[in-house]
Amino acid sequence: MATDSNKFQAIISHCKEYGFIFPSSEIYDGLQAVYDYGQMGSELKKNIKDYWWKSMTQLQENNIVGIDAAIFMHPTTWKASGHVDNFNDPMIDNRDSKKRYRVDHLIEAHAEQMEKDGRIDEARGLLQEMEVLLGQDNFVALKELIIKHNIKCAVSGTINWTDIRQFNLMFATEFGNASADAESDNKVYLRPETAQGIFVNFLNVQKTGRMKIPFGIAQVGKAFRNEIVARQFIFRMREFEQMEMQFFIRPGSQMEWYEYWKTERLKWHLSLGIDPAKYRYHDHVKLAHYADAACDIEYEFPFGFKEVEGIHSRTDFDLKQHQEYSRKKQQYFDTEINQNYIPYVLETSIGLDRMFLLVLSNSYEEQDLSTEEKKDSRVVLKLVPKLAPIKLAILPLTKKDGLPEIAQQILKDNRGAFKCFYEEKDTIGKRYRRMDAIGTPYCITIDHQTKEDNTVTIRYRDSMEQERIPIDKIREIVLKEIE
Ligand code: ATP
Repeated sequence: MATDSNKFQAIISHCKEYGFIFPSSEIYDGLQAVYDYGQMGSELKKNIKDYWWKSMTQLQENNIVGIDAAIFMHPTTWKASGHVDNFNDPMIDNRDSKKRYRVDHLIEAHAEQMEKDGRIDEARGLLQEMEVLLGQDNFVALKELIIKHNIKCAVSGTINWTDIRQFNLMFATEFGNASADAESDNKVYLRPETAQGIFVNFLNVQKTGRMKIPFGIAQVGKAFRNEIVARQFIFRMREFEQMEMQFFIRPGSQMEWYEYWKTERLKWHLSLGIDPAKYRYHDHVKLAHYADAACDIEYEFPFGFKEVEGIHSRTDFDLKQHQEYSRKKQQYFDTEINQNYIPYVLETSIGLDRMFLLVLSNSYEEQDLSTEEKKDSRVVLKLVPKLAPIKLAILPLTKKDGLPEIAQQILKDNRGAFKCFYEEKDTIGKRYRRMDAIGTPYCITIDHQTKEDNTVTIRYRDSMEQERIPIDKIREIVLKEIE
């Protein structure tokens, strides 16, 4: 059985083996921190996305609508948002190995090791000092901190560090067939967050949708960041997907809505049946240039508690900036209080790929099923049925005696309602195991008794219990759990 430290490796292998995730362009040895979702992964990812979309745009009491903005945006967007000047990570290079590290990651990894060695207070002290210095952008003192704690490069084992420098995380490219002059007017960026596509459409949506504050705009889409330290599988990618919602509110009401969305978003996570002990909030000490309050929702991944979602009170920073740079008023007339103002914004921002990894980490289980007579085990993904790539497997016991025909008819009757899978090869035990490994919550087996009384055996993934049910009950049982 996998321990926590190798559980992560087991999940990565499992993803590859069962068609969830492949390294991008693998035949050319892959591309660092870029991944492709396979036949199972794309279904699971879509189900997570659909559940978020529905929760936001359909099930909310608050008024939230969705949009789908383009990845390319006018370059001035990124000047206004602060990304051209501020979207930097402090980095440090090791002169011997030539390896580049994000300063916070380097120090955090060292603190983690200290904690493992039982030096808990020292580790906390180090992290606190780091937070303060990062907040002050005090790179000289940060480098001294690294040297003082003798923090070595994992590759060269030396402390031969360069000075700390800032690196911008945006990918740039050119529009049209201009020369590759980086400073040319044709330079465009691949968006590093989806939020700005919402801000620049604030008035379009407000006016055409006759939206009244408070209201929200939700969006799911790709974002790109030239992450220097890209590791931990799909946790930190260079091309990833975000699910973001900007909630437009009256100035002064932001703390109320901040608390509201903090609670609401955690509830969404817990509605997926995930153990609350696996979650915690992490309040930001160092606030981004646009925020007056911010926290992360963290989940305990196999490699520790890490951010999966951010809740940010963005004030009127973004709309104000766009008003200034575009010279177009970004104001709202509030008829209830007879006032014109630039709305404040509360943001919820979750990484779809990170959520995918969370769901997998939470549902992956290696079970020992050995009895005195024989050794046995299984890998099961205990996915909530609404997220499972396949809801129902239809398995005729044999390939003959008319059983496949009955099974095919069941497939035809149900595939319009949910995703089904049909298979007649191999022993029934092997077929069950394969379905367990991709998280299929229900398998039904068609046998000779089916011909006599129109019943099938349904097998439940988690309990492995089986029962006989009439064919016409199948749809009801499956739908009850996925709706
Ligand atoms: P981190 O501190 O991990 O770099 P961040 O604070 O920069 O994340 P945000 O800008 O708040 O992240 O983005 C919101 C969400 O987008 C994050 O909570 C995360 O789930 C997701 N996200 C951000 N960067 C990446 C990435 N490189 N790969 C995958 N998901 C990401």
